[in-house]
Order: sequence, then C-alpha cells, then structure tokens
Amino acid sequence: MPMYEYRCDACGERFSLLQPMSAPRDGNPCPVCGDTRTRRVMSSFATSAADGGGGCGPGSGAFR
Ligand SMILES: [Zn+2]
Repeated sequence: MPMYEYRCDACGERFSLLQPMSAPRDGNPCPVCGDTRTRRVMSSFATSAADGGGGCGPGSGAFR
C-alpha cells in the first residue's frame, strides 16, 4: 500500500497516510485542525529512499 503525503491548506500541516491507490486524494481531514481542505503532494522519501532511487528500471520492482 503506498504512502501519500498531504498538506493542509488551512494550517499548513504536512502528514502522511498509508492508503490504497483507489483512495480519494482530497477530503482527508487534517490531524491537527480537522479541516478537509488538504491536498496530496508527492512524497519523495517514500519512493526514492526505499529502493535507492531505482525508478522503474529492471530489477527495481520487487518488494523487499
Ligand atoms: Zn490543518
């Protein structure tokens, strides 16, 4: 299940959620202020740190 990072437009808080890819990308309540004006941002650490920045080349798709 991928981890998505969100940013709250109301208070500026950033938070991460483990969600299925089919989950809605907005309307998730902020854990700090409860506002649902949050937006998904690309999480850099979740994708590049896990497999050494391999991207989608051969051999990088395996789950470890
Ligand atoms: Zn907030």
